[in-house]
Amino acid sequence: MAGVPAARKRVLFLFSDTGGGHRSATLALIEALGLEYPGVFDCKMVDVFRDYLPAPLRYAPEMYPPMTKFPETWAISYKATDGKRRSRAVIRALFPYVARAIRRLYRENPADIIVSVHPLVNTGVLRTMKSNPTPFMTVVTDMVTTHAFWFDRRADLVVVPTKEAREVAVEYGIPEGNVRVVGLPVAERFRVPPADPMAFRDEQGWRRDLPVILVVGGGDGMGPMEAVVKSINEARLKATVVAICGRNESLQHRLKSLSWNMPHHIYGFTTQMPEFMAAADMLVTKAGPGTISEGFIAGLPLVLYSRLPGQEDGNVAYVVKKKAGVWAPRPHQVVDAVRRWVEDPEALAAAAKASSKVAKPDAARQIAQIIADRAGVYSAPLGSN
Ligand code: UDP
Repeated sequence: MAGVPAARKRVLFLFSDTGGGHRSATLALIEALGLEYPGVFDCKMVDVFRDYLPAPLRYAPEMYPPMTKFPETWAISYKATDGKRRSRAVIRALFPYVARAIRRLYRENPADIIVSVHPLVNTGVLRTMKSNPTPFMTVVTDMVTTHAFWFDRRADLVVVPTKEAREVAVEYGIPEGNVRVVGLPVAERFRVPPADPMAFRDEQGWRRDLPVILVVGGGDGMGPMEAVVKSINEARLKATVVAICGRNESLQHRLKSLSWNMPHHIYGFTTQMPEFMAAADMLVTKAGPGTISEGFIAGLPLVLYSRLPGQEDGNVAYVVKKKAGVWAPRPHQVVDAVRRWVEDPEALAAAAKASSKVAKPDAARQIAQIIADRAGVYSAPLGSN
């Protein structure tokens, strides 16, 4: 625990609501700072795109969900801008257009430390700051395939979730000594699971005697989730299907009116993801980094049914390599995978164990300690990274 400094330290978090992951990672860090160092930090979150950048960039959070509906187009723009030279060329072209907005952002939000949780703000801010001594940290929220935009060598420190991501950081020019492998920051509620998951099943009316297949599609119920749920239902497995549609209300409606052959429960956006995961036996999801990391912490074997080409490719490879789950891009492959686990509890237990093994439940708290250290607050020595 920290000694309380004379004045509270100001932490400025730069993020944007392009997908759900950047906000939830930022909130997890703010929560962890509060838990590790009560009363020491004043944290402020700024959605750089929405709050500061000129149109059309300001609409990035609104444009993101429709853009990612066309994975192949997404892949082209991802690849076209990835790589040291290409990413620099894009930033150089955009910089005159955003420079004034970033100077204003910087002026209006004085801080003792800046923490970026978004790939697209690093170079713009660091270039504007120039010789300013405010420490700048980047917390990367993609697991393995991390876009070149994340990495600017002027950052004082870059925190990444995996060793694989560290290699990418170094390849893109970050000095090895400035990269730390910690994990993806996840909310405290995942770290401390509910004492009695069966009580949650009772509360929700789920059967105790059947395995629960939890199906999710990110915060917006994206990807081919409907086809996946339909195929599982047609397979008539001895299991309960729990589908979380996020903010996708029409999907929720369609799944509720399906002709059901299996026990099922359909939900919209929930704030109880830790409880849902703790009470489930397997997780069928798109390859979002947040959901995957939360699934690891809950010890859930994963079936990944879709991924965003480029940034989520590595997540799939990572899960498969660690034997924590399978890649099943077609609905019948999802059915094969869940059927195997429903019918073979030993195989299910082995995958669950592999999933738990790669979990990093303390990541948010460890990153909070690094932030404190960089902000000049005394902190306990960290475990080795
Ligand atoms: N989530 C949630 N409630 C829901 C659906 C999703 O809290 O009903 C959370 C989920 O637990 C995860 C985040 O939304 O933390 C989704 O992040 P991920 O990186 O998996 O996907 P994204 O939505 O960013 O593409």
